[in-house]
Amino acid sequence: MIKQARQILETTFGYKSFRPLQEEVIDSILNKKDTLVIMPTGGGKSLCYQIPALIFDGITVVVSPLISLMKDQVEQLVELGIESVFLNSSLTPQQYAENVERLKSGKIKLLYLAPETLFLERTIALLKNLSIECITVDEAHCISEWGHDFRPEYRKIIEVREIFPKAVCAAVTATATPRVQRDIQDSLKLSGNNKFVASFDRENLYLEITPKTNGVDQTMKFLRKYPNQSGIIYCFSRKQVDSLSMQLDDAGYSVRPYHAGLSDKERHENQELFIKDDIQIIVATIAFGMGINKSNVRFVIHFDLPKNIESYYQEIGRAGRDGLRSHCLLLFSYSDIQKIRYFINQKEAKEKQIAERHLSALIDYAETGICRRFPLLSYFGENFTKDKCGICDNCNSTDKDLVDATIPAQKFLSCVKRTGEMFGAGYIIDVLMGSGSSRIIEKGHDKLSTYGIGKEYTKKQWLNLSHQFLQLHLLSQNNEYGSLILTEKAYDILKGELTVNCKIKEDFEVRTVMKTDANYDAQLFDLLRRKRKEIADKLSLPPYVIFSDKTLTEMSTYLPVNKKEMIRIHGLGEIKFQKYGHVFLNLIMDYCEKNNLKPVGDKSYSSKPPIKIVKKKSFQSTGEKFNSGMSIRDICLETKYKKSTILRHLLDFVNDNNLIDHEKLLEESELSMQQIKNVLNKFDEIGSERLSPVYEAFNQKIEYNELHLLRIYHLAKSTA
Ligand code: ADP
Ligand code: ZN
Repeated sequence: MIKQARQILETTFGYKSFRPLQEEVIDSILNKKDTLVIMPTGGGKSLCYQIPALIFDGITVVVSPLISLMKDQVEQLVELGIESVFLNSSLTPQQYAENVERLKSGKIKLLYLAPETLFLERTIALLKNLSIECITVDEAHCISEWGHDFRPEYRKIIEVREIFPKAVCAAVTATATPRVQRDIQDSLKLSGNNKFVASFDRENLYLEITPKTNGVDQTMKFLRKYPNQSGIIYCFSRKQVDSLSMQLDDAGYSVRPYHAGLSDKERHENQELFIKDDIQIIVATIAFGMGINKSNVRFVIHFDLPKNIESYYQEIGRAGRDGLRSHCLLLFSYSDIQKIRYFINQKEAKEKQIAERHLSALIDYAETGICRRFPLLSYFGENFTKDKCGICDNCNSTDKDLVDATIPAQKFLSCVKRTGEMFGAGYIIDVLMGSGSSRIIEKGHDKLSTYGIGKEYTKKQWLNLSHQFLQLHLLSQNNEYGSLILTEKAYDILKGELTVNCKIKEDFEVRTVMKTDANYDAQLFDLLRRKRKEIADKLSLPPYVIFSDKTLTEMSTYLPVNKKEMIRIHGLGEIKFQKYGHVFLNLIMDYCEKNNLKPVGDKSYSSKPPIKIVKKKSFQSTGEKFNSGMSIRDICLETKYKKSTILRHLLDFVNDNNLIDHEKLLEESELSMQQIKNVLNKFDEIGSERLSPVYEAFNQKIEYNELHLLRIYHLAKSTA
């Protein structure tokens, strides 16, 4: 039977191999053993019961708590040519009756139901006339009061189970705590102890945490790296959601808000727009995400601190379900911690204790200097067995970024000491920088020897340094007031007995470069994506239901030009090929011809990207390097050209009517958003043929290289 399962995996789903534990779970269900499956979001739980459903003669009933989830699942199955339906209150009486008829006809393999519908007498009567082989309980943690989403009606599922004793029961969830697991097994009376717990490591998520200095600027800078890519930004409060989404909207981003304060209609509409790739970004409170199956979420930003590690994990889990590399950024701020502490302090003693534990685990995670996957996975009781993951900020930062920071540390620590260990980092920095604030004057701190001795760094740099001092345990922080206190280690540093190394970045905006997965052809990807959107809109389906991003990425890497090659692409089974294969084949062939590309075709023979046949001019090759994601600096290093030459190349590239990733140009700029705007306005006003008038107009304050860069952007924008 497992052989048959493997065949279905390939021909129906278009996947080459099982993910960890899928095969074992499928085997267990096929052998009619009650089975509990615990896999992280995106781990591939659905396949575990869908494949047995296709092999069983009778029907698999799937109990699912959310109407949107059900609809999404059924849409995806139907796209794969699998007969399935759902019954719930969202259907019109006529649709409902139609679905019932189809069930009675015996063709349906999977029936999705909300618990309320399941308990209706007429549903039970209907089911009694069908052959029920498996009852799957999706989101099974809803059964437990200890889970984060308890639904009392889930408790009654056992009554239905007892009516159909022959049906095997499969319970699936992403909640890992042992307590919830036991609850599920008990409440559903799962026989035996067939439990499959997959690793909670989501290997394709790039984890990054960076101090929050100017959240909005940092967010925009981050977003510029992902033009046209879907992402979610989580905020703490509705107010923050509204304000951030407004600011992003003003800056021209394609964005909508989502929180419980919006009307149902608005929420639904914004969610749909996001799912259908009509808007790029959703700014949301934690109210957003349950029931979102969108597989091509490329980034999740935590603009504010998440509530605890479990919520954080759930929220970042919404990124990268398609298995492609996705970026999770947390903007970490100590003042957010104060906010959360304030809320915690309002709680009752026991609750307070739990909340405090949660918070400190979160802080430990954020402050860790080692691979982020250690604290993250150990929180879920899992040992990370490699020595590093290679895709988190800590793994990617190298020791060579570290410099001797003993002197700034001494300055900072002694300032903490001299002000009586009663202040937070902000105040200490003000003293170090010689601020004339009335608070400092009142307290006489302008008379201290440490007053004004730290002008060599910016406020941002000091703030970042202070975080590092905390992480290095030179300082500890008073829980209640946030004031900084010296540790023993700090005294060793003050005495000069210990040195300290830190990272002092020029300006530590979000700078980490996350390598993307493939050497795919971005221009082709874009074409394919547009086609996907066009088809999806015609069918009123979310684009990822047609093909996942991973499928399109593979197509634009391997350039399949016939059925044999196409069918090897991830996510492409027989039915999908019949439906859309030709449309995409034609697009790819056309593209190859126009661009003189030699298809690599068979992905099993070569993993190299396609080879351009024509010999290129150097500006052409520079432009392509830039578009492929290389930074100007990287190109300089590789080609040994100077930056000014590279800029000249890029200018020629644009003048030669090539498309350039213009958002990426902005990313290269060291100027603030406002300065960029000013320069661009100046170009509008006096033209960009000659740069010297613009240079003069800004009193020679803006470097020529910057003007060169922005001129290219300006040109690219106006010809795009
Ligand atoms: P979960 O329900 O555990 O969050 P899903 O079942 O929605 O995850 O699966 C996540 C994504 O992974 C889906 O797009 C699914 O089609 C895909 N997937 C599942 N199993 C495999 C597999 N063996 N190979 C490739 N992709 C898979
Ligand atoms: Zn790591």
